[in-house]
Amino acid sequence: EQQKLKRIRLNKAVTLDGTAIELHANIEVPEDVVKAKAAGATGIGLYRTEFLFMNRREMPDEEEQFIAYRKVAEAMKGLPVTIRTLDLGADKQMNPDTARSCTNPALGLRAIRLCLADPPIFHAQLRALLRASHYGNIKILVPMLSTLSELRQTKLMLERAKLSLRKQQIPFDEDIKLGGMIEVPAAALTAEAFAQQLDFLSIGTNDLIQYSLAIDRTDDSVSHLYNPLHPAVLQLVEMTIRAGEKLGKPVSVCGEMAGDPRLTKLLLGLGLRQFSMHSAQLLAVKRRILQTDVPRLGVLARKILNSGDSDKIEPLLDKLNLQ
Ligand code: PEP
Ligand code: MG
Repeated sequence: EQQKLKRIRLNKAVTLDGTAIELHANIEVPEDVVKAKAAGATGIGLYRTEFLFMNRREMPDEEEQFIAYRKVAEAMKGLPVTIRTLDLGADKQMNPDTARSCTNPALGLRAIRLCLADPPIFHAQLRALLRASHYGNIKILVPMLSTLSELRQTKLMLERAKLSLRKQQIPFDEDIKLGGMIEVPAAALTAEAFAQQLDFLSIGTNDLIQYSLAIDRTDDSVSHLYNPLHPAVLQLVEMTIRAGEKLGKPVSVCGEMAGDPRLTKLLLGLGLRQFSMHSAQLLAVKRRILQTDVPRLGVLARKILNSGDSDKIEPLLDKLNLQ
């Protein structure tokens, strides 16, 4: 089985009808690039930078971050490397022993909220990312956006970082692309407004499911209710894909849903053309793509999307997967 999958490593991810699909890898540390390339990823769709900050006392400074980001950019040799700005807080604490306790960490000061509340940390990361962009094809991805105001503040911070580098005559990619994670239902519902102001969108289904279904993704007692196939989740995903299509901005899914081969045809049927996942899932998803005729998916995918009942979706999905 593994041998069979390996044979399609170098195949282009194209469906039977000739639709080209982008298959990217999620990484947590620069060393993960080796596995991403071995799996045939054509880019890094999500580099979770918080792992550089976790389980240690001191924050990594700009230089340490620059070295890590440049390493990934260089290793990917011009292929896209989407680096997410710090997504600390909630399930990803820097130092669990000293983490500030709050009643609802997932709804608290995390991700972009934390960065905007601590400009020196954000400034150092943005400078490190910009400096590394001179050595490859880096894109910046902002987590947990829920309002356009956060995006405006982020853009001001990015301009400030660019200005400081220009003053010092340090080179960076002047044309660097800025994308946003759509992982809060409010952002999915207003995805068009975000797509207007961004170069690309990336759907974080892990958090989108958590927030739309009110299920703590870290709480085992409710994990049976955590359902990627809830019609509300599918509708939020589809709305975001449509918003990107309408405004001509690429949309990817980088949450766990993207790496589940059982959901590949459904996501293709909803219009998704870019997936980012753990490297270990990549070939299984590619195999599904190679077996799919996109025009044939439309009717059933619509039916699934418009079904108000989660329990009716499972059998429809089985049918879709046989197409
Ligand atoms: C997500 O929320 O789907 C996502 C990709 O980010 P993380 O799992 O790191 O929160
Ligand atoms: Mg997330």
